[in-house]
Amino acid sequence: MCDCQNRVCTELKKAFPTARRVIMPVELLSNRIYIEATADVIGENGKLKDKKIKVMVSYCPFCGEKYPEKGEESV
Ligand SMILES: [Zn+2]
Repeated sequence: MCDCQNRVCTELKKAFPTARRVIMPVELLSNRIYIEATADVIGENGKLKDKKIKVMVSYCPFCGEKYPEKGEESV
């Protein structure tokens, strides 16, 4: 798997040395990046409520390298 996340974090720290935090949506076990989608769904009380869904990306958004599929070895 590519090193883009570490590289981007290093560059962000250089660009914003006083920033207290930079948030990147990363799934910890696979180290893959996800997009968070919000859907409005009808809850049990009949009212709309927001439900957040994590959509894993198949390719690195920085360099385009394909992330390993579930069950594939990460090299
Ligand atoms: Zn990458």
